Amino acid sequence: MLNTSPEYADHSTLDVEAIRAQFPILNPSNQNQPLIYLDSAASTQQPARVIEAVADYHRGHHANIHRGAYQLSRTATRMYEEARERVARFLNAADPVECLFTRGATESINLVAATWGRTTLQPGDEILLSTLEHHSNIVPWQMVAETTGARIRVIPIDDAGDLDLEACQRLLSPRTRLVAVNQVSNALGTINPVAEIIAAAHAVGALVLIDGAQWVAHGPTDVQALDADFYVFSGHKLYGPTGIGVLYGKRRLLESMPPYQGGGDMIERVTFERTTYAGLPNKFEAGTPHISGAVGLASAIDWVESIGLAVIGAHEQVLLHQATERLARIPGLEIKGRARHKSGVISWVMSDPPIATLDIGTALDLRGLCIRTGHHCCQPLMDRLGVTSTARASFGVYNRLDEIETLAEALSEIRESAS
Ligand code: PLP
Repeated sequence: MLNTSPEYADHSTLDVEAIRAQFPILNPSNQNQPLIYLDSAASTQQPARVIEAVADYHRGHHANIHRGAYQLSRTATRMYEEARERVARFLNAADPVECLFTRGATESINLVAATWGRTTLQPGDEILLSTLEHHSNIVPWQMVAETTGARIRVIPIDDAGDLDLEACQRLLSPRTRLVAVNQVSNALGTINPVAEIIAAAHAVGALVLIDGAQWVAHGPTDVQALDADFYVFSGHKLYGPTGIGVLYGKRRLLESMPPYQGGGDMIERVTFERTTYAGLPNKFEAGTPHISGAVGLASAIDWVESIGLAVIGAHEQVLLHQATERLARIPGLEIKGRARHKSGVISWVMSDPPIATLDIGTALDLRGLCIRTGHHCCQPLMDRLGVTSTARASFGVYNRLDEIETLAEALSEIRESAS
C-alpha cells in the first residue's frame, strides 16, 4: 500500500487514506464533525474486517465449544482453536497450548500472580517491578506479596523516563524470583530494552513477565527470541475486540502452575472427593470463554500483519516526531517523557498559564479531538514526575500528520484563551 500524498512520501510507506477507509468510525458520514482519535493507547478502533469477522461468527457459527455433539459446535471449537494457533504464530510461541485466552492483560497478570505467585513465593523473595508500570502490573503483585511475605522492589527511571538499567542490575539478586516490566510505558511511551532485562534477570535465576499491552500493535513480537517466561497483551489495543487477551507462558511453567479458576472445561475428572485437571490450555480456561472475541482477535492479527507491524511502527514514529516538534513549540507546554526510544505516545502538562489536564481534554473534545487525561493508571509514575495527571495523545495506524497539526493549533488556542 504505497502512499501517493507528498507529505508522507519521504517518511512512510503507508497509504493512510486506504487504511482509514476501513474504519467505519472514522467515516465522516458517521460523525457530526470529523473524529480525530488520539487515544489508541487506551483502545484502538476496529477495522470493518474485524467487526465483520465477529458478526459472521455470531450470524453463522455460534455454539458453545468443546463438547457439542453437533457440527455447529465443532465449527465454533475449530474457530476458537484456530484463533489460538493464530496468536501462537503472531507471538512465535513454540506451541499454541502456551497461549491462553484471558479477558485481557490485567487478567493475564492476575493469573500468574494468583497461581505461580501464590505457590512459589516465600517470605524474603523479591519481585522486581519498574516505576513505569501500569497499576495492573503493580496491584496483583502487592496482593500476592501480602499473602506470601515476598517483597516488591522498583527499578527507578531517570528524568527522561528511561529505566535506570544500572540500578536494575544492582537490584537483581538471587532473592529476585520475578521481574515484571512493561515493554512500552502507556503514560510516557518509553520503549524498554526488555531483551536486555530478561537476560540479566535470567542470569540471577529470576523469571520474567513482560507486559506487552502497549507493544504488540506497534512492532513484531517474538517470545522465543526474547526468551520471555510470560508475555501478556489485550485484544482491544491491537485493533481487536474488548474482553479478550492473551497470556503466553513457557509450557513447563504453565504445566507446573495450579489452575486459576475452577469450573467447567478445566477438569479431567470430578468427584466430590477430588478433582483432576485437564491439560493445557484448558486447565486455565474455566467456563465458557469469549469465543467471538478470540475470533475477532485472530482477525485483527491477520489485519495488522497484512499491513506489516514494522510499517505501522514506522508510520507512528513519523507522527510522534511531528507531535514532539509541534508541541515543544507551544510556550508553557511541558512534554513529560523524552526517552531515547519511544512509541507513538506523547504526554504533557500546561504550566504557564496553568491549565488543568481535564480542562485541556474537555476543550479538545469540543473540537472533535479524543485524548486522555489523568494518571493513566500509573500513580507511582505520576508521583515520580511530580504531577497528578498528564494529557496524553497516542497514535495508531490511522492517524495523519494533519491531525497532529489540528491538535497543536487547538492547544495553542486553548492556551491563548486561558492567558
Ligand atoms: N498494561 C499496560 C501497559 C496498559 O497500558 C494497560 C491498559 O491501558 C494494561 C496493562 C491493562 O490492559 P487491560 O485493561 O486491557 O487489561
